[in-house]
Amino acid sequence: MELNYTLIRSDRRTLALRLLPDGSLEVRAPRRFPRAEIDRFVRSHAGWVEKHRQARPTPAAGTPPLTAGELAALKQRGKQIFAQRAARYAPLVGVDYGQISVRCQKTKWGSCSAKGNLNFNCLLLLAPGEVLDYVVVHELCHRLEMNHSARFWAQVRRVLPDYEQRKKWLRDHGSELMARAGEK
Ligand SMILES: [Zn+2]
Repeated sequence: MELNYTLIRSDRRTLALRLLPDGSLEVRAPRRFPRAEIDRFVRSHAGWVEKHRQARPTPAAGTPPLTAGELAALKQRGKQIFAQRAARYAPLVGVDYGQISVRCQKTKWGSCSAKGNLNFNCLLLLAPGEVLDYVVVHELCHRLEMNHSARFWAQVRRVLPDYEQRKKWLRDHGSELMARAGEK
């Protein structure tokens, strides 16, 4: 299988392969890394790419709303996942946080209270993992800046340099995703 990819060379030391939300591949490589080696690296990950492309949840237009049972299951799984992701990213952002709650909402992806309690939308579990992580980092960064100022976005970018792509996914697919919460 031949795989197309976008190559981004930089001062990094290792190769990294990323599957973007639209299903395309991106390879980050050291500046002088031989192209043939990169091709081989990508080919050796063909199975991984195939598996993840298939697993990628792409909310199709008109996908029926989730049942109450499905939403409850999503919420349950969300408690675990958001707790894990917040614990992973909080040290990178350099903050602590309080309670984490998970709801199925049609209006927002997450919030952060003045006391540091975090609230996340369980529908994010249907989005690519990078997008879910973006919302976690976004809310954690509100522990530093309780606004959407340039200073706030600079903090988000420090932890997730590619956050704009992830944010765009939510802009493009967010309303379809929220529609799955049904008439509530
Ligand atoms: Zn915000």
